Amino acid sequence: MKRIAALVRRDALRLAQIVVMEQGKPMNEALGEVGGTAEFFDYYAEFARRIQGEILPSDAAGEQIWIQRVPIGVVGAIIPWNYPSALVSRKVAPSMIAGDTIVLKPHEMTPLSALEMGRIFHEAGVPPGVVNIVCGAGELIGHAMSSSPDIDMLTMTGSVPTGKRIMQAAADHLTPVSLELGGKAPFIVMPDCNLDMAVRAAASSRYMNCGQVCICNERTLVHRDIHDEFVERFLAFSKSLRIGDPMDRRTDIGPKVSLAELEKVERYVDAAVSAGAQLRLGGRRLQNPPTPGGYWFEPTVFTGVDPSMEIMNREVFGPVLPIMGFGDFEEALNIANASRYGLSAYLFTDHMPTIMKAVSEIQFGELYVNRIGPESLQGFHVGYGDSGVGGDDGVHGLEAYMRKKTVYLNHSGASPVGLMPYGG
Ligand code: NAD
Repeated sequence: MKRIAALVRRDALRLAQIVVMEQGKPMNEALGEVGGTAEFFDYYAEFARRIQGEILPSDAAGEQIWIQRVPIGVVGAIIPWNYPSALVSRKVAPSMIAGDTIVLKPHEMTPLSALEMGRIFHEAGVPPGVVNIVCGAGELIGHAMSSSPDIDMLTMTGSVPTGKRIMQAAADHLTPVSLELGGKAPFIVMPDCNLDMAVRAAASSRYMNCGQVCICNERTLVHRDIHDEFVERFLAFSKSLRIGDPMDRRTDIGPKVSLAELEKVERYVDAAVSAGAQLRLGGRRLQNPPTPGGYWFEPTVFTGVDPSMEIMNREVFGPVLPIMGFGDFEEALNIANASRYGLSAYLFTDHMPTIMKAVSEIQFGELYVNRIGPESLQGFHVGYGDSGVGGDDGVHGLEAYMRKKTVYLNHSGASPVGLMPYGG
């Protein structure tokens, strides 16, 4: 696994170029993603000496009870297009250290990063059959994996409807599933915060990967005392960002992944305008795109929104931000929590009682206070509600790749019959 990490670092530029070519994120972000791809292997390699079992006292003399953690068997991993390199290692690294084999299906739009990782696994000396990469359509290959009796655990990152389909197909064989699905992260800004930091963080968290990240800032809630100033600064900062060729390291925002994804964003924007939201910036396809091809959309900002609008409820997955004012923190919390999604939430304040109220009352699996993502390897990436079941990363993410075996070991030489508590 350490050799894989070293090879990923050796080939980082090439891997990042493949990510940019097939997915469209800017080169700086792609290099960051590839850095993460290596780190998953370094991190999980450390668990070679850390996976522990338990020995429990028995009710009888001369007996031990062991609980072992053993490999689950064959893992089926299905991943989306937005992190085509890092999500390979997020699934493969824990499966490898757990002692499993894995069948991984990349998204049909972005298979090349996964195949390039396959080349690296081969070069690193991973034995044949340990990591298997199968490309193809979700309804065909993904469904075959989800409904297969030969797969012992399914881990999928993707959209909510697909997650539900996978869970339904897996039910036939009672195959356990871990589903990392969509989000609609609230980004709450309180009046005492460092406004400049909050504006930059809100923008980075909205525009990274052209808004195509499950933990993106999807709805910004700003205290009324600072709402207007926040909006002005946010608009100014958005206009200062460089939209450009994603291969250029100076580019901040690149194109979207596909025409279908561009059209989805367009529909959400049109619906928000029809619903009466106030369009403050952007709202259209880019008029003079920096490259001949690509699916470009302008950074887009709405104000005058209310929580009932679709733009405040559905995951948009594009560079489109609704900003809404609120009166007190209780109101912000209620708006934040009134969502079927429950992945990431953000809070910008230095006021400790407000932070602690959020910690206890926010109904999201991840709370970021005065910082944004990405999530850390040692954390637990977990969503509530429609954002999924199970979770990735750290010690808790690794658990899904193993199962437990209980061993009752009578080494006393005495007949076990006398030990039976039920007189049987
Ligand atoms: P998607 O659901 O369309 O596709 C994900 C994967 O599922 C693909 O490999 C696809 O081929 C496969 N698939 C499609 N239909 C299938 C079926 N019937 N059976 C089995 N597999 C099938 O999602 P997407 O558009 O690639 O990704 C975007 C979504 O992913 C967003 O909602 C985003 O929030 C989510 N996402 C979540 C996380 C997270 O960690 N929570 C991370 C990244 C992306």
